[in-house]
Amino acid sequence: MTDTKNTADATAGSNFLRGIIEADLASGKHASRTTVNGTPLPPVVTRFPPEPNGYLHIGHAKSICLNFGLARDYGGRCTMRFDDTNPTKEEQEYVDGILDAVKWLGFDWKDQSGEHLYFASDYFPQMYHMAEYLIQSGHAYVDSQSAEQMAANRGSFSEPGKNSPYRDRPAQESLDLFRRMKAGEFKDGEHIVRVKIDMASPNMNLRDPAIYRIRHAHHHRTGDEWCIYPMYDYAHPIEDAIEHVTHSVCTLEFQDHRPFYDWLLERLTEGGFFKRPLPYQYEFARLNVTYVITSKRKLRQLVEENIVDGWDDPRMPTIVGIRRRGFTPESLQLFCDRTGTTKSDGWTDYGMLEAAVRDDLDPKAPRATAVLRPLRLVIDNFPEGLSEECSAPVHPHHPERGHRHFPITKELWIEEEDFTETPPKGYFRLYPGNKVRLRYGYVVECTGCDKDEHGRVIAVHCNYFADSRSGTPGADNYKVKGNIHWVSASHALEAEVRLYDRLFTDPQPDAGGKDFKLALNPKSKEVITAYLEQGMRAALPDEKFQFERHGYFVADRVDSTPGKPVFNRVVTLKDSWGK
Ligand code: ATP
Ligand code: MG
Repeated sequence: MTDTKNTADATAGSNFLRGIIEADLASGKHASRTTVNGTPLPPVVTRFPPEPNGYLHIGHAKSICLNFGLARDYGGRCTMRFDDTNPTKEEQEYVDGILDAVKWLGFDWKDQSGEHLYFASDYFPQMYHMAEYLIQSGHAYVDSQSAEQMAANRGSFSEPGKNSPYRDRPAQESLDLFRRMKAGEFKDGEHIVRVKIDMASPNMNLRDPAIYRIRHAHHHRTGDEWCIYPMYDYAHPIEDAIEHVTHSVCTLEFQDHRPFYDWLLERLTEGGFFKRPLPYQYEFARLNVTYVITSKRKLRQLVEENIVDGWDDPRMPTIVGIRRRGFTPESLQLFCDRTGTTKSDGWTDYGMLEAAVRDDLDPKAPRATAVLRPLRLVIDNFPEGLSEECSAPVHPHHPERGHRHFPITKELWIEEEDFTETPPKGYFRLYPGNKVRLRYGYVVECTGCDKDEHGRVIAVHCNYFADSRSGTPGADNYKVKGNIHWVSASHALEAEVRLYDRLFTDPQPDAGGKDFKLALNPKSKEVITAYLEQGMRAALPDEKFQFERHGYFVADRVDSTPGKPVFNRVVTLKDSWGK
């Protein structure tokens, strides 16, 4: 295992795939390719090939940024392809969600030659013809063994497999059976089409892999037109070749499938279906992020058992969840670039994801004041009914973005933790007898507090110095160590704020078959009522802010209503985990 945390900057922007593509560009390997109509093809074509069977997650974001990013950076094309060869699990709802996610991440499948949005199911007729060709040319046969017999004859890692008794049946007989399979004459599992490679191969994937199976099932696009469906390992290379993909990038577990990928495209090229140079598969290590699970099955469990509030819960690693949490597309792209692309599996620290969103939001997000754990502060010598306007920069490094304005009044809200009766060493905030600056306002001196019958502090009292106002010449005469934020009690916006944290307490919640539900963080969501600077009333859904001293927050895109935004904490200002 490698920890990519410390190597992030070294790998940013560059990876072994770029090396391969640059070498191919230099040698002109794909330079002279054209379509059958003679239209020139770009020298780099990648693809993003999700199965439309669920919501995309952070791992898919990696694949999207990688494939679309390589195409963008080398003047190529990335095709958006739905790998919908498995009829039973796929739905239109997921197709729409995936297209949305890719667009939101900042990519699209258009280039000068048009839209490159494809569905593997559109190639079913071609795939079928190619399978007929493989049967006719003696490279494939219909096997009529039962599933149990086939499994028994497959052998194991240490033992070779045995040839099927149907392996040498005449091509004409196989062809006839295949056509009858297609015509719906047989039940699921009665026959299967396999290619003839080598039942003794040390690579199990070459032991006569199946390419077509009977499946009487309704497909989300082709309906009931087909009752036979191609297997993934057969369909994928064909999809790549039809789309003129040059670099077919996938995760490491497909390494052992590559020999079949190549074998199949060679046979089909001999048959005149494709032209060289053929697509080539490259594998990289999938993205694993600590404190995150990405298995679709387990994510579904979180949703169905109401452990989270839906697929777009801001704690979910789904793209819809991450988006609702307040991450920007730029922050995800930055994260994916920084994690690099390698050939060895490892874990990326969750802190890197948080660092990426901080780095992206810091220069962009307007500042605002929010009191999250409110305590009343009364300025006893401040005139009743007076409201004086204070101002602060929208962004400390961008004076051109102007100022925000908010009033100071006799009664304010401050953070509970900014007052104590008995200060520990080094505590510079409010305690009886101490002076602090109310940020962008006046210097005040604490005089005491009120308590309820349980001894809980319910209000703090102070006096202000009328000549100490920030931005006036008198301000400099006051030297105070503490500087606290506040909002006017009579003007503040009362708002629901959701403090989100990581969903699990274990960095690898489901590793080694562990029960991830035992590692749930009980404090992953806390809902509070906070008091915000009055200007926050106008916050629009999806708008992000830095609440000074607290972190980055976003107006929730689902639950905010005009004049009444609800905020989600995107991330705190500093990484406090494990400290
Ligand atoms: P499943 O096979 O369980 O349905 P999947 O995550 O493989 O899930 P696909 O829709 O097949 O889902 O994935 C689409 C693309 O995203 C594939 O090219 C896959 O390699 C890539 N991908 C999925 N998860 C990750 C990950 N964690 N890191 C990098 N790429 C990933
Ligand atoms: Mg998959």
